[in-house]
Amino acid sequence: MLAFFPFLFLLSDFISPYVCTDNVLKQNYHNQNMCQLQDEIPLELKNLPYVIYPNDPKYDTKRFIYNKCFNLFPHAIIVPRNVEEMAFVLKSLQTHQLPFSLRAGGHCYEPGSLSSGYVIDLANFHTIVPDVSKGEVVVGAGCLLGDVIESVGALDYAVPTGDCPVVGVTGLSLGGGQGVLTRLYGMTCDAIKSISMMTADGQVIEVNATSYPDLFWAMRGAGNGSYGVVLGLTLKMYPIAKAHYVELSWDWDEASPSAIFERWQSWLSNLPHEITTHIRFQYANGKSVIKLTAVKIGSDALNEWEKPFKSLEPKVTFFSGRYVESAHYWAASHSNPFSKSKSAMIMQPIQQKGIDIIVNCLTQMEQEKKAHQVHFTIASMGGESAKGDTAYYPRKALAMWHQMVTWETPEEEKGALHTLRTFSREISPYVSTQCYANIVDYDLGDGYLRAYFGTHVEKLIEIKKKYDPTNLFHWKQSIPLSHPVQ
Ligand SMILES: Cc1cc2nc3c(=O)[nH]c(=O)nc-3n(C[C@H](O)[C@H](O)[C@H](O)COP(=O)(O)OP(=O)(O)OC[C@H]3O[C@@H](n4cnc5c(N)ncnc54)[C@H](O)[C@@H]3O)c2cc1C
Repeated sequence: MLAFFPFLFLLSDFISPYVCTDNVLKQNYHNQNMCQLQDEIPLELKNLPYVIYPNDPKYDTKRFIYNKCFNLFPHAIIVPRNVEEMAFVLKSLQTHQLPFSLRAGGHCYEPGSLSSGYVIDLANFHTIVPDVSKGEVVVGAGCLLGDVIESVGALDYAVPTGDCPVVGVTGLSLGGGQGVLTRLYGMTCDAIKSISMMTADGQVIEVNATSYPDLFWAMRGAGNGSYGVVLGLTLKMYPIAKAHYVELSWDWDEASPSAIFERWQSWLSNLPHEITTHIRFQYANGKSVIKLTAVKIGSDALNEWEKPFKSLEPKVTFFSGRYVESAHYWAASHSNPFSKSKSAMIMQPIQQKGIDIIVNCLTQMEQEKKAHQVHFTIASMGGESAKGDTAYYPRKALAMWHQMVTWETPEEEKGALHTLRTFSREISPYVSTQCYANIVDYDLGDGYLRAYFGTHVEKLIEIKKKYDPTNLFHWKQSIPLSHPVQ
């Protein structure tokens, strides 16, 4: 009987004092849309055990990535369990000309690994096989940095990776990969020995310096979502017994931010390769702080910081021990669900006027007690990272700057974006126009190719034409088949 009057339920929902009408309308609209999405899925992709469909309880979690700004509704999230399933879905999506994205760790700063079509999630490719005799580790494309750091670290080895344990090793490596071992061993992409990948025609190839040298060059720095589906990576690992970590911090009102930053910049000019350092200007919850961290690899103690910084009376946190344990100290984290990032390369020390812009921004944030958070993190580059010959472009940078705002509720978005974009515009005369491809920033428009890949762009386009001539693998900032007209 009730089946004939489904609207009665809706009506009772509308008049119930306990249910927000707006939410009910949204829910009904949502349900209708979900049904439509399901209907549009081609027959051969329906009812597969490794696909998350819109009616699956996991769908609403899995359709998001780390940055919750992007509310897309894919038709399905495909999580293949092996190469055969991967080849099958790639062929099916190709045959039906359906758009898709590739996802590894889901830590793209923009929706580069999301799609309203289909998401192919490599999470099931998660084996890690270290081989000490060869000094290498084979990792599945779905592995996260923390898994790799832990399993290789248990053997007192390390791969030069990034700082955040939940970032995907695939996305990070293919776009560059900067972290505490960058100056000693180079970028993560420099540690890639071989790449197992599926090309547009469903073939699995092993890409390395002898088999496909041009593609190998391109994949290490510009490989994200442009040439094929990476299934796994073979990475060099280095024996590391001991690491030393120091964190110096200053409250804003007790510090002289300009002096700290100036000293940090001049410290970089003759820093040993064993040391990598970051300086962070951070504003959160009404307070600004400066944090300076350094990690040194090897048996010698880390005391190089004392001469430049001790007289500035920082609060000091220190750790000395196994590398794998030190990782807990330098692991990056923040808790807000929404964020926007930008990058800039620093090719020579920032002049005083530029430093004033940084200091004024943080001072103003503190005075106005803004609700959103600001993180400006500048990381030392140079050392081995200046030497590699791959598609990763900004090799000559003295430092890499990650400018980021985070916020907690959608209402704060406008203010947060205004802070970031205003700051970025003001600081631009004092930094390079080169940017980091892994700090994906859609504000760059068509300029992203030059900003990320500089004079490598033309070569990357030629390699694209050779290996993916139909542009099967594409997203907003992939390598195109021809240069956009500017
Ligand atoms: C909290 C946080 C901390 C970070 N810390 C660091 C850091 O310390 N050092 C650093 O260098 N970077 C850092 N990054 C940036 C990070 O390197 C990039 O965002 C990276 O692209 C994330 O990789 P992912 O696999 O997690 O992302 P995803 O969102 O899964 O993918 C990112 C890109 O890779 C492509 N892709 C995914 N899977 C595949 C595949 N199987 N084959 C081919 N292409 C694929 C996608 O198309 C997408 O363009 C950080 C990012 C965040 C959000």
